[in-house]
Formats: sequence, structure tokens, C-alpha cells
Amino acid sequence: DFIKVSTLAEKIKRPATEILKKLILMGVMVSINHEISFEVAEKIAEQYNILVEKEVKLEREEVLINDFEDKKEDLMSRPPVVTVMGHVDHGKTSLLDSIRHAKVVETEAGGITQHIGAYTVDIDEKKIVFLDTPGHEAFTAMRARGAQVTDIAILVVAADDGVMPQTVEAINHAKAANVPIIVAINKIDKPGANPDRVKQELTEYGLVAEDWGGDTICVPVSAKTKVGIDTLLEMILLVAEMQELKANPNRTAKGTIIEAKLDKGRGPVATAIVQKGTLKVGDSVIAGNTYGKIRALVDDKGKKVKSAGPSIPVEILGLSEVPNAGDILYTVADEKTARQISELRKEKERQQYFASTAKVTLEDLFSQIKEGKVKDLNIIVKADVQGSAEALKQSLEKLTNDEVRVRVIHTGVGAISETDITLASASNAIIIGFNVRPDNMARQLAEKEKVEVKTYRIIYEAIDDIEAAMKGMLEPEY
Ligand code: GDP
Repeated sequence: DFIKVSTLAEKIKRPATEILKKLILMGVMVSINHEISFEVAEKIAEQYNILVEKEVKLEREEVLINDFEDKKEDLMSRPPVVTVMGHVDHGKTSLLDSIRHAKVVETEAGGITQHIGAYTVDIDEKKIVFLDTPGHEAFTAMRARGAQVTDIAILVVAADDGVMPQTVEAINHAKAANVPIIVAINKIDKPGANPDRVKQELTEYGLVAEDWGGDTICVPVSAKTKVGIDTLLEMILLVAEMQELKANPNRTAKGTIIEAKLDKGRGPVATAIVQKGTLKVGDSVIAGNTYGKIRALVDDKGKKVKSAGPSIPVEILGLSEVPNAGDILYTVADEKTARQISELRKEKERQQYFASTAKVTLEDLFSQIKEGKVKDLNIIVKADVQGSAEALKQSLEKLTNDEVRVRVIHTGVGAISETDITLASASNAIIIGFNVRPDNMARQLAEKEKVEVKTYRIIYEAIDDIEAAMKGMLEPEY
């Protein structure tokens, strides 16, 4: 606790020379740039009838949040958290509903009507947790915020329609997140159903069915007649087992907010999925900028519970404000600590409002490579026709050298969309548009997320630019 003489002078609004004289009289020989102790400053200030107080410095949040790696022996297996993805109308919602109805036993207290953003299914002694919001958009939006809750992706493909653009998007988004994919070939009750055609089409995207010699599990199902649902659930448990999903339930909780709203009667309500530890009623928590002391926990059956362990979704009551989906939740020592972290973060947010977050750009690619910050250059390619997208992808990936691997994580046809921007943000990628541009919403989001979008009309210009950027020879843009 020291203060510079000049700072003290400023604070008590007297010339520094005057302060120095007083210090000399006290036998303290310093210059105006020297620091003096709190006790000395206090004595000086007393002479001006000024009361000095020590500045309460906010601790760094890392000190306040006790997140640590668990010891291997403390880990216990936990249920898998599953997201359903796929093209519109291929039956994502129907599949989620049919699993819920087939497997969730109705209870007296509200039964199965509770929608908290996720639900738990019991299969013998095991559990599977399904996220209620299907689609890769929500999945990647969470990832862009730094949260990854999903362990397994169920890719729903309608057997009468086959692989469609959003199917491909879903595959790429799941792959970019390194999440294993199980394919549910849906609507096999329909007369035009052709599961083999679906398997054939999937091979083009690197998903080769097991009965075709690959390692992708494909389960024919019907959300309508419920055929194959049990097999699908078994396969989920199988993949979960192979992944060895584990967490330590005996520690303070860390989780992710998957849904949040302001409830008229109950105030801010958020659903969290716990990833480590156990969340308990009475815990003081921080989630994003919000904090609170947990007043009540409600499970997916509408039942009040005292605690929730790893993978289990619960609704939390008692937060000061509504957090965002994707916010990470931590249990901290007490409510005062939680509030302190919340204030710290709000302050930081104010400071960072105009400061950009470091994302990869072509301009500084070379220096980032040199600093070892970039080892993979992730690129998303959107084009007017699939042929061009494919050609660009292949040429770009050939630019891979000893220092940087060029990875095209997604290609697609059509305008650059908000989902593309979110994926780029989550994967630290740049976007190349060939004969296509971002739509208005995408442009705004790109600005906000600081995602670089480059558009070209000539393929080799795009390749030249990337190559030049990798060598640090990109012509500056004026
Ligand atoms: P989503 O957009 O992927 O969520 O698709 P929905 O679940 O809303 O389903 C789209 C349409 O397909 C609805 O009319 C469903 O009734 C229908 N559907 C979904 N699954 C099946 C199925 O297994 N068999 C048949 N025949 N129809 C289905």
C-alpha cells in the first residue's frame, strides 16, 4: 500500500513541493516520483484535515473462482449431453418429442410438461440428457461464447429427402467442434424412404456407415411410429461409453447456462447444465455478469431438488439478473465474492466495449504465425455454386506448409449467413465468399464478432491473397 508523492499531492489538491517540504520535516527524504507508505501519507493528509482510506482493490477473478483440474481418481462417469441437428423438416423436433414421450415417466408434479431447455431420459441405470433446442445454430452460438456442453450430435436425415444443405452444415459444425456424430435416418415409415441412398450421400461428407465399412453409426428410425428409438438410445450410450465421459461430482460446481428468461412471478430463471461438481441450493454463483445465491433448484420434471450433479440440467432461481445462454456458471465462496466478480466483469465489459477481441485476420496472419499463435488457418468458403466452393477448398488446402495447416472447415452454396459468421467466430476462422456476399444481418454480426469476410470474383485472387498473407506479403488495402 504505497502512493506516489505526486499522486498524493493531486488528491489533496496542494502543490507537490509543499508536500515534499512537509515530508522533509518528518524526516522523509524523497522526490515527487517516489512512493511513500500509507502510514506516512496518512500523517500528511491529517495536517490538511483529510481522511485517507486504502483503496479497496478488486481481486482478479481468477483468484476468486476456484476452477481446477480434477485428479483422475476423483472422476466418475457422467451422462452424455446430446444435441439433435439436421435439415429443416427432417424431424428433429418430432424425434425429441417422441424420445421424451417414450422414456420420460409422467409424475404427479407437473409430469412431462416442464420445458427447462433440456430433459433427462432414464435407460435402466443410465441417463441421457437431451438439449431441447435442436439445430447447429444454437450449438455453435454457445461455442462462440466459449461453452461446449454437447458430447454427442444426433444428425437427423429424412430417408425420403436425403442429405440437404443444412445437413451438410450440421456435419461441418459438429466436426469443427470435434463432437462425434450418430446418424438417425428418420421417416423410414414413409413409402419413399431410402436409407441406403442417405448412407451413400453421407459418404461424400466423410461419414461412412458401419455396414459400409466405416465407423459412423447410422440408426434407421421413425419419430412417428417410434421404430428404432430404443436402438438409437442404446447407440448413444455406447458412444458415450467409448468417450469415457467423466466428471468429479464432489467439488464446487462449474456449469453452462443453456437457457434463461425473466419469469413474471419468479424473477430471473436460468437453466444450467453442470459440468463439474454439484450445484446446491444455497450456493453463491456467478454466471457471466450475473450473480446470486441459489434460492431453489427445479429439475426437468418440475420437481424441486436440493442439488444437481454432472450433466444434469436444472432450473436456477435466485440470480440477480438474466444471464445469457452460453455463460459459464461457477459456485464461489460466498455472495459477496459473487457480487465482486460480477462488478469486475461489468467494469471489464465497459472497458472492452470498443476494444476488439483478437481474431485471426489476413492482415496480421503472418505475425500471428510467427508468434506461434496460429497453427491452423481455419477458413469457411461460400460460393455461388458447389463446384467453385469445392475447387477453392482444394486449392486453399494445398497451401498448407510446415508452419500452418490450412483447413477449410465448411463450404456451402449461397450468401454468407449469420450462422457462417457464428461458426467462424467459434472456430477462429475467416470467411471467403466467391461470387457471393454476406447478407445484412451477417455483415452486422461479422462487425460485432470481428470476423474477417473477404469476397472475390476470381478464384486465383483468393488463393493469392491467402498465400501472400501466410508469407506476410499481403498488399495493404486502401
Ligand atoms: P424439424 O424441422 O427437423 O424439427 O422437423 P419436425 O419434427 O417439425 O418434422 C417435420 C415434419 O415431418 C412434421 O410434419 C412431422 O410430423 C413429420 N415427421 C417427423 N418425423 C417423421 C417420421 O418419422 N415419419 C413421418 N411420416 N413423418 C415425420
